[in-house]
Amino acid sequence: MSVDTLTIQTQQVAQSRITDLDVNNIEFGKIFSDHMLVSDYKDGAWQAPEILPYGNMSLSPATSAIHYGQAIFEGMKAYRSAEGEILLFRPYDNLKRLNLSAERMCMPEIPEDIFMQGLEQLLRLDAAWVPPTAGSALYIRPFMFATDDFIGVRPSSNYRFTIFSCPVGAYYGQPVKVAIEPNYVRSVEGGAGFAKAAGNYGAALLPAKKMQERGYHQLIWTDAKEHKYIEESGTMNVMFVIDDVLVTPAVSTTILDGITRKSVLQLARDLGYKVEERKVAVDEIVTAHRAGKLQEAFGTGTAATIAQIATIAYKDEEFELPPVESRTISNTIAQALDRIKTGQDPDIHNWVYKINL
Ligand SMILES: *Cc1c(COP(=O)(O)O)cnc(C)c1O
Repeated sequence: MSVDTLTIQTQQVAQSRITDLDVNNIEFGKIFSDHMLVSDYKDGAWQAPEILPYGNMSLSPATSAIHYGQAIFEGMKAYRSAEGEILLFRPYDNLKRLNLSAERMCMPEIPEDIFMQGLEQLLRLDAAWVPPTAGSALYIRPFMFATDDFIGVRPSSNYRFTIFSCPVGAYYGQPVKVAIEPNYVRSVEGGAGFAKAAGNYGAALLPAKKMQERGYHQLIWTDAKEHKYIEESGTMNVMFVIDDVLVTPAVSTTILDGITRKSVLQLARDLGYKVEERKVAVDEIVTAHRAGKLQEAFGTGTAATIAQIATIAYKDEEFELPPVESRTISNTIAQALDRIKTGQDPDIHNWVYKINL
């Protein structure tokens, strides 16, 4: 919680669209809250941010982000506690990562006051959009893109930073079938895989679509050199429980440093589980499965928190994992994380940021 240190010009909507929202039946990513924050970077400085009614932006066809891909984003959630408070989860980590992405993509850093005060004041205004129903949240999308209207290849001189949000319902995903990707890569050493850059997503769509055509929900990325080591699962980090040890690929320049990932690892350590962050070979997973030691596999990310994996396919084989009900470690941690995020459990790591309503 903090006091307002930045005055943000605010143009409020005449009439809220909140009446369009059915909190018991929220369609993902289609209804946006009333307001958005906008700040432009020009002449080497961020201009005073403004809060405006959510709406279209007008752009030149030559807008450089569209052509050369200087575009980065974040994804975070605000939860409503039983007391009606609005709680953000680790927003400073999102800011830090956004600025890491900005550096890699040759874009200016966002100052802390614009990001945090922007969030604070935007959420205060759109507080009614944080749904109270269990499992639901307000998904928040901060992003930045290059706005020069110039088609020469060079880092843009002008940028826009925006935050908007949309309510999301509980994630009732079925355990997914995933397949290990033998050809395509998401990321390579020296590349931008650690950045939350729009282009990383664009390039991952075709491999994911092809996997879906083969009957899998998602793919597991492997390293670009040998396709021997596991990297991530789709747009989530990936974890395994082998012989009661929680194992996950160590973060590197090719793996995105997920906030859910590091929160899950911290809680696992708090709960006394053994955790290993290291290279995880595809062969190790196969061998563990054959020996009956692969107990759990799941993806981690803000959207789903934990997405259970039911089946892993590799070459011509499919490996079925134990039923989700038996997965003590991931179920325990998912619940603990949810209780912290929604203010039901003490926040010993100072992860929760309360909006001053
Ligand atoms: C955003 C993202 C994640 C998950 O990060 P969280 O901070 O946990 O939401 C994992 N992998 C990739 C590639 C991502 O873009």
